Amino acid sequence: MVSLLLVEDDPAIRSALMRSLRELGHGVNAVATGMSALSSAVEQKPDVVLLDLGLPDVDGADVLSMLRAISEVPVIIATARDDETEIVRLLDLGADDYVIKPFTAAQLNARIRAVLRRSGRSDEDPLINVGALVIDTRSREVTVDGRPVELARKEFDLLLALARRAGEVVTKRDLLAEVWQLAWGGSDRTVDVHLSWLRRKLGESAARPRFLHSVRGVGVRLAASAEPGDA
Ligand code: CA
Repeated sequence: MVSLLLVEDDPAIRSALMRSLRELGHGVNAVATGMSALSSAVEQKPDVVLLDLGLPDVDGADVLSMLRAISEVPVIIATARDDETEIVRLLDLGADDYVIKPFTAAQLNARIRAVLRRSGRSDEDPLINVGALVIDTRSREVTVDGRPVELARKEFDLLLALARRAGEVVTKRDLLAEVWQLAWGGSDRTVDVHLSWLRRKLGESAARPRFLHSVRGVGVRLAASAEPGDA
């Protein structure tokens, strides 16, 4: 279980996030101020800190600097401002990643997994199997029926995002956010184009899917075989 320290002063956002993160199987400890964030980070040694920037006592950026002085714990910033200069400043201060409010639990969870992988703290199995499709998340190698499949970077990222939620229908909106880091904007067309390339490389087509099942108007599900309801 991943232990998260959630720093958020808004009670509604805090309890909603706690609930969704716990549903995702994480251990969550939540605090509402910068000072309590610092003491919790020291005492409880969380695996990841999710830090809101607008806190009542200490500015989130200052909390980040203080935290960096005492701990190397991965920190994901939650900001309401989609401001590139500000985000670059926070990454320079030692943030590992960021999410822009409002964000979905799925998006946040993808960022959590990513920072854990980068920090080497992830204990997830590096191999993901979906029927005859095998994805090595560390070496980024993919095989189908034991034969290697050469994927471009975004094709692999797209496949991986789907594989981590295998069996679930993932929306194009979520894929744009997770794979292309487009929390807002971006076009479904981007996803469609990469899906069609990915399909070709996996040896299937939209009309005859083997792994990538489009669900019309909803999104895509990665699964080893078709299930009723596939479009
Ligand atoms: Ca706040």
